[in-house]
Amino acid sequence: MARAAVPGRLTWRVATVGAARRETPSARTLVLDVPDWPGHLAGQHVDVRLTAPDGYRAQRSYSIASAWTNNGRIELTVQRLDDGEVSPYLTDTVEVGDQIELRGPVGGWFVWRAEQPAPVLLVGGGSGIVPLMAMIRARGTAGAKQPFRLIYSVRTPEDVLYGEELRRRVRDDAGLDVHYVYTRKSPPELALPPKRIDVAALNTYGWPPDFAPDCFICGPTAFVETAADILVALGHDPRRIRTERFGGTS
Ligand SMILES: Cc1cc2nc3c(=O)[nH]c(=O)nc-3n(C[C@H](O)[C@H](O)[C@H](O)COP(=O)(O)OP(=O)(O)OC[C@H]3O[C@@H](n4cnc5c(N)ncnc54)[C@H](O)[C@@H]3O)c2cc1C
Repeated sequence: MARAAVPGRLTWRVATVGAARRETPSARTLVLDVPDWPGHLAGQHVDVRLTAPDGYRAQRSYSIASAWTNNGRIELTVQRLDDGEVSPYLTDTVEVGDQIELRGPVGGWFVWRAEQPAPVLLVGGGSGIVPLMAMIRARGTAGAKQPFRLIYSVRTPEDVLYGEELRRRVRDDAGLDVHYVYTRKSPPELALPPKRIDVAALNTYGWPPDFAPDCFICGPTAFVETAADILVALGHDPRRIRTERFGGTS
């Protein structure tokens, strides 16, 4: 019997920018209408491909920021790297109504499913918050009760992504805690100097290893390696630590 052709995960699709939101001066969320989007798990990403008029192509990966809600839309949040090839186009040039090619969802390891019973520790650096936010949103959509702790390392208060939504969710989503580590400038009310992620932060604001949490760490490569090493040194089971490296070194 002949079967209808079903677009697969690795099929390039032409998505339309349905809306765009500025998150910070250097980061923007694109809401994309994707034909035949098959759905996704929190933590997965897409590959985005841009083609210049002369045929030159550039491809980058972007985590899906939104939880799957069956409306054919996904959200990406892109942090601009001033010397970057692709990110400045997505944060500053692309407009509502424009089309971009993407394929996915990609990734089956760095994902959180609402059926996972363990408490969750999320550790994000910079734009590494994006797939972790998808997990927080998926937890909210599912009405899941597993306790979640997010440790979010960010340069300054002005660079925080999803700040309002995180505040609202901490108030409304029982069992969600958020702790910020500011690396360059702390808010005045904190009366603490900026610092990088360290043993004290992960020990104080994470879960004890005895709770056997599922740990998800995402951000620049060096950040991810530091945080993973600390969690292992604190006694967390390496098999429960999942990492996603965005590249870069800072
Ligand atoms: C699985 C995955 C998911 C990702 N999800 C997101 C996401 O949700 N949001 C997002 O903004 N980015 C995300 N990234 C990073 C993204 O793919 C690009 O690397 C980033 O947008 C830079 O691309 P560019 O073309 O602007 O810079 P490039 O032209 O590729 O690089 C410019 C300069 O920046 C350095 N650089 C590249 N990437 C980084 C980085 N992440 N941090 C610091 N320096 C860097 C390069 O070494 C180079 O010096 C993800 C990466 C991966 C692998």
